[in-house]
Amino acid sequence: MRTKITDPRVLRHQQIRLQRLGRATVSYVLQASVALCTAALGGMAWSTAFNYVFGISLLVLVFFAVFRSGLNLRSREPNLTFIQVLSPLPPAIYLLYNIDSLPVRAGILLTVIAPLLYGILDLSIGRFLTAALAYFVAYFSVFLLAGARDIAYYDNPNEWIVLITLALLLAQIGVIGGFISGLRGSLRRKNQQLNDAMEKISDMAVRDELTGIYNRRRLMEVLQSEVARAARGDAQFSVCLFDLDDFKRINDERGHPMGDRVLIACANAVEGMIRSVDTFGRFGGEEFLLIMPMTDADAATIAANRLRTRIAELSFLDDENRPFTVSASIGVANSETSTTLETGVILKRADKALYAAKAAGRNCVRLASGTR
Ligand code: GH3
Ligand code: MG
Ligand code: MG
Repeated sequence: MRTKITDPRVLRHQQIRLQRLGRATVSYVLQASVALCTAALGGMAWSTAFNYVFGISLLVLVFFAVFRSGLNLRSREPNLTFIQVLSPLPPAIYLLYNIDSLPVRAGILLTVIAPLLYGILDLSIGRFLTAALAYFVAYFSVFLLAGARDIAYYDNPNEWIVLITLALLLAQIGVIGGFISGLRGSLRRKNQQLNDAMEKISDMAVRDELTGIYNRRRLMEVLQSEVARAARGDAQFSVCLFDLDDFKRINDERGHPMGDRVLIACANAVEGMIRSVDTFGRFGGEEFLLIMPMTDADAATIAANRLRTRIAELSFLDDENRPFTVSASIGVANSETSTTLETGVILKRADKALYAAKAAGRNCVRLASGTR
């Protein structure tokens, strides 16, 4: 049954899996060529070589169909590496069992081990060692089957030497596999740390150090894109410029660290109340800016008043346990009423409205009246 894959990440992974299968196919083609050359040189029967080529071709076709149909995505390990590493074993057992000449069998045995090496790149060490053991068991079963067919087989010391050599070779491949698996693990961890650090750095570049909300750089980026959107006629937006009232006095009377705590509390209070589409940040000092996309002047004024009330409701205790409150004045400007759509013009209008709020006695909201 074909699974419809739409997620681009999954599609890319499926593409990578097909490329890996392509590389494995090259290895299968080489093995098939070795089998056919050996048959041509009289080292094995043509029928054995053909059956082997048929077997491994069937494997490639089945894996190709599975990856193309997306059937592998139902597995917990969608790369199917473990199965791909183990599946060449039945044709290999068949091939080795049907080669009577020991030197020819020993030579072919080398090429038959190749698929196991692909497992180093993807399997966990436990799985890789299991696969290496399965390879040994596969050849050991050839050894037992051949011995059962002809008991004199066990008397040939060279057969034992090949078996023991294979065991030692697989053990060494297992050790190297473990080493590479360890390297892969530490590479993955380092990559993760690097990604985390990059994420942190890019987040730090747009965050205010004291309050953790967006900084002026981020606010200007968002404002710029809102201005561009409004200039295209797509949507209007509003901005609210906040300025804490008599903040200098809070610093002077209760200390600068207390002033910092007030800034953090106000930032958190406002951030907790805005919509997810809004952008709120510290514009500088004790001034904050709220950018509200798709918001007209009336809605922005209502929101600004709600936020102003929230700030005024915050209660603080200074170091001497004296309770106090703070307030903010807010200037609102809307893009529809601006003659020129420029960040500077919008901000200037909001600043003028803020000045009007201060002049009106503070702790209030004023909407920009002029057009510039
Ligand atoms: P107004 O009501 O007219 O806005 O009066 P104000 O005292 O708030 O205005 P002013 O601009 O004179 O003072 C702003 C003060 O904010 C001065 C400055 O020391 C303080 N401030 C700016 N940034 C910080 C900060 O990061 N932490 C603290 N604690 N204070 C800051
Ligand atoms: Mg100020
Ligand atoms: Mg102030």
